[in-house]
Amino acid sequence: MVHPDTELRFVSPEIGWGVFATRPIPRGTIAWALDALDQRFNAVELAALPPYARAQLDKYSYVDSRGDHILCWDHARFFNHSCAANCLSVGYDFELAVRDIAAGEELTDDYGTLNPAEPFPCCCGDATCRGQVQPDDHARIGDTWNQLARDDFFLIRTVPQPLWDVVAERPVIEAALDDPNRLRSIHHHFAALRRADSAARR
Ligand SMILES: [Zn+2]
Repeated sequence: MVHPDTELRFVSPEIGWGVFATRPIPRGTIAWALDALDQRFNAVELAALPPYARAQLDKYSYVDSRGDHILCWDHARFFNHSCAANCLSVGYDFELAVRDIAAGEELTDDYGTLNPAEPFPCCCGDATCRGQVQPDDHARIGDTWNQLARDDFFLIRTVPQPLWDVVAERPVIEAALDDPNRLRSIHHHFAALRRADSAARR
C-alpha cells in the first residue's frame, strides 16, 4: 500500500503515469509497504499465466527477495525509476523516503533494487543517471543504496507513519531500531537471485 498522501498523475506520453506527493513526506517515512492485497506469483504460477497477463506482470511487477513476482494492487505499481530515487528499501518489504519529499514531487525508486530481469535504458534526467539500469547494478551500487537507506531507517520512530499497521515485519523492524547490529541489508533483496545463479552454475 502506498502512502495516503500520494496520488496518480500523468507525467508524459513517454513515461506514462507516476506517483506524486499531495503533502510533504519527510525522510524516514514508510512510503510504501507490501500489504495483504498485493498479489504474489511464484515461478510455477508465472509459467501458467497466459501471454497477455505475463506481459502486464512484466511491466508492473517487481521481484522480491524470494524470487517471487509482486504485483501491487494500488497505484504503487506506477512508481517510476530514478537513478537518484527518493525512496529506497533497506532489505524489508517496504520503501522508505530517503529525502524530504515536497508536495507535488514525484515519488521514485531505483528499479536496480527490484531484481530486473533485463537491462533497460534510463532517461531519468538526473546528473547521476546511469544511462542503463542493469540486473547486476546491486553488485556495484548496493552498498551505496544501503548506506543511504540505513541512515533514514533510524528516523522511522521520529516521523508520522500512516502505513505502520500495514507493515508485516514490525517486530523485526522494532528489534533493528533497538539494536542497529540487527538491521538487515539491502543485499537481502538479491539473495534469491544469487541462489538461482549459483544453482544454474552447478
Ligand atoms: Zn537514470
